[in-house]
Amino acid sequence: MQVNVRKRILITGAAGFLGSHLCDRFIQEGFHVIAMDNLITGSLHNIEHLFGLENFDFLHHDVSKFVHVPGPLDYILHFASPASPIDYLRIPIQTLKVGSLGTHNLLGLAKDKKARILVASTSEVYGDPLVSPQSEQYWGNVNPVGPRGVYDEAKRFQEAITMAYHNFHGLDTRIVRIFNTYGPRMRPNDGRALPSFIGQALRGEDITVFGTGEQTRSFCYISDQVEGIYRLLFSPYTYPVNIGNPEELTILNLAQKIISLTNSSSKIKLEPLPEDDPKRRRPDIDLATTILDWTPKISLEAGLIKSIKYFKDLYAIENTNQNI
Ligand code: NAD
Ligand code: UDP
Repeated sequence: MQVNVRKRILITGAAGFLGSHLCDRFIQEGFHVIAMDNLITGSLHNIEHLFGLENFDFLHHDVSKFVHVPGPLDYILHFASPASPIDYLRIPIQTLKVGSLGTHNLLGLAKDKKARILVASTSEVYGDPLVSPQSEQYWGNVNPVGPRGVYDEAKRFQEAITMAYHNFHGLDTRIVRIFNTYGPRMRPNDGRALPSFIGQALRGEDITVFGTGEQTRSFCYISDQVEGIYRLLFSPYTYPVNIGNPEELTILNLAQKIISLTNSSSKIKLEPLPEDDPKRRRPDIDLATTILDWTPKISLEAGLIKSIKYFKDLYAIENTNQNI
């Protein structure tokens, strides 16, 4: 008799924005998902619909401390880390620790369990880039002692130690460099441009554009990001791969689009640009296209419409709760 044993995957940062969508995807694909999070920036609301499933477990744990997971593991996705600038400025030491000690613990766990591990890196490893678009060949322009250094350097160390485990211990590793990703389950007040602008537009408040608004970003919708990560995990490629949407626009243009799509009366208000804020960011996705046969499918406009609906519904629920 053949017994169908589910593959087991540990997802750290599972209660966060990206982690919770990855939990959904791997549950849908028939995996046993072990979700781990210390809830420092995430919320159990993001995964509460999975509690009670026989193939889902949640472990409340800080991965910067020794990580123990009972039973076998086939895969590990290490996504735990504050990701929004206001988060990593508020908790800089935890950010450095989860990228360094946390990654070290998870690499050790992967080695012990003989599991494949994929770590979440970021376009921030390119810092304030001097070339555009940014390909994986570019080494970056990061200020290690600036305010963003705690995040950027933790992620650069994460990439270095992951490659070292791969080369020295023969560990089966993957590295994804994630560019700005957005969609449902972002925290409305996480300080990132997209949820901030949508919230401000829906409330009719001024839209706070930092600097002149001429700095650029390229926004990738969550379902495209999850598909890219899924494909990378099951590809044989072990060097870093950019996953993002190359549709680049200025932040001022993003604000204008959101005002228009929400039919808002909001005005744009310019505020000081944070220190070391990258002037431009756009992924070169040739590598992902070639080796993963992946390209983003959701246009910025379509993704914004879905996100605006999500935040509208969220605010409607909050208002109802306040009136009870
Ligand atoms: P998020 O803040 O929504 O999720 C991060 C999760 O990690 C949270 O649930 C948080 O509680 C958890 N966490 C943080 N430190 C932890 C620790 N020490 N132990 C256990 N859990 C911990 O952020 P996100 O946007 O979902 O980002 C997830 C990952 O993707 C991060 O590693 C981030 O660096 C990376 N990333 C995200 C983006 C993006 O645009 N969202 C871009 C580049 C990289
Ligand atoms: N930004 C802004 N207003 C806000 C929040 C952010 O103008 O209320 C700017 C920010 O300075 C940056 C861009 O929008 O130039 C994207 O910021 P976000 O925090 O979303 O992402 P990151 O800087 O990490 O790419």
